[in-house]
Amino acid sequence: MNTKQADVVVIACGPSGLAAAIAAAESGFSVIALEKAMNTGGAANMGMGPLGLNTTIQTQELSNVTVDKAFKMFMEYTHWRVDANLVKQYFEKSADTIAWLQDMGVEFFKASRYFPGSEATWHIVKPESGKPGPRAAATMIKRMTERATALGVQILFETAGDHLVCENGKITGVIAKTKDGEELKIDCKAAVICTGGFGANAELVHEKTGYTYDKDFFGFRIPGLVGDGMRMAQEVGAASTDINMELAVSMAGEHMTDPIRAAFNQPNLLVNLEGERFYNEELFENSTFAANAINIQKARCGVMVIDEAIKRHYVKHGIDVRSMVLNRENAEGFDEDIEVAINSGNPYVYKADTLEELAEMAGVKKDVFLKTVDMYNYYCETYDAQFGKRQDYLKPIVKAPFYAAKFFPGAYGTLGGIKVNHYMEVITPEFEPIPGLYAAGTDTCTIYGDSYMFLLPGNTMGYALNTGRMAGENAAEYLKSLTR
Ligand SMILES: Cc1cc2nc3c(=O)[nH]c(=O)nc-3n(C[C@H](O)[C@H](O)[C@H](O)COP(=O)(O)OP(=O)(O)OC[C@H]3O[C@@H](n4cnc5c(N)ncnc54)[C@H](O)[C@@H]3O)c2cc1C
Repeated sequence: MNTKQADVVVIACGPSGLAAAIAAAESGFSVIALEKAMNTGGAANMGMGPLGLNTTIQTQELSNVTVDKAFKMFMEYTHWRVDANLVKQYFEKSADTIAWLQDMGVEFFKASRYFPGSEATWHIVKPESGKPGPRAAATMIKRMTERATALGVQILFETAGDHLVCENGKITGVIAKTKDGEELKIDCKAAVICTGGFGANAELVHEKTGYTYDKDFFGFRIPGLVGDGMRMAQEVGAASTDINMELAVSMAGEHMTDPIRAAFNQPNLLVNLEGERFYNEELFENSTFAANAINIQKARCGVMVIDEAIKRHYVKHGIDVRSMVLNRENAEGFDEDIEVAINSGNPYVYKADTLEELAEMAGVKKDVFLKTVDMYNYYCETYDAQFGKRQDYLKPIVKAPFYAAKFFPGAYGTLGGIKVNHYMEVITPEFEPIPGLYAAGTDTCTIYGDSYMFLLPGNTMGYALNTGRMAGENAAEYLKSLTR
């Protein structure tokens, strides 16, 4: 078996792993970082940016969100069922982390809201291409990788952490496997696990959460995120946590293009398969809340309905709710695209000349649905006596053809697995730290309680970066304590 030595081994190079590796190297320690994939970044390569509170960018934009305000919001939202010290430290560090990233050459486009009712905490990365949008954060990852390399961090690509070596209760090494199956032993004094959860492990997701991919759940499955970190930590005695998903509503099936997504991700009539309304659709923009509501319906399914008049309005005059993710003002192209989706056999999108036909196609109880539409149209003329939806979002369903699309729960990934304290030390069921073992990022993220916190957007990438930094810094302090 080949061997190497380092002070710290960081297992994985997503945003939490890179932050941990840079922080430990900045403290003067030698670092080897393992990365299973051919490149760094993990899920963050698909995202747009992290949370920051009280940053200079927010101050310049007059959109400042203080740590105190965010902390109060957060703890009320979670009913104090989460680690308050960890939340506070993460929030307090977040402005410094944005500045730390800027010092590495990361540029931010602006501090944005996710939807009007959320706070402007989402620091959208300015990508090399110049145009902000999905995948913008890949440029942040590039700058972090350059910084890590400049500090002497040795990144071993296509090399996965496989086991921890624990002697006399302390971490003394990591066994890794190359893509050819060769084993490599790295002697070290501290290890940081940052493997991003297990969103790609359908079996484990089903076992821990009950969701079945491609049946009642259509989340992201980033290759390689299969739960290695959680397994490795448990093998050396770490306590496990409850598992949650970073839920968001999801459209399923082939050829769901941006114009189709833009037209249906709007606050229009949403029914379940029983034909009844079950949600105040003005909150559809909060993807986690919408997914929670859909989650408890029959077949975990919600059906969004629009008519020809709404569609035309969206194509010609623009959609009601714009999102940074789609970055579109209107649904231009909808007519052509929906024909392609339907003709290709996508079973989740429908067009019909009558409401009866639409209900049959979508498998919605027809009689109840027709009554629901009548009542909804009456609300559009009066007010929404059922859920109190705001008036300007009440658009009647009257003009043929009619369109519908099915929504299901989906997720950006898993949350939790490895129990840590607020020093990012991995702890046993007795709450004793395992000396030399740290973890960060989504492997450890249980701070949202039961539902992801979209009201302070950028939260998971923010959590990954800040807890990664904390883990790297605290591992460095631990190493210093060994020589005292
Ligand atoms: C489409 C999409 C958009 C998103 N947008 C945002 C956003 O704008 N803002 C936000 O806050 N959050 C966003 N998120 C969530 C955010 O990207 C993640 O929360 C964040 O990347 C988690 O960081 P991490 O370091 O914990 O794990 P990851 O980024 O998932 O990285 C984990 C890394 O571990 C590696 N790995 C796994 N096992 C091993 C092993 N055994 N050995 C070595 N390496 C291993 C993987 O290859 C990967 O590189 C988005 C997620 C998705 C899917």
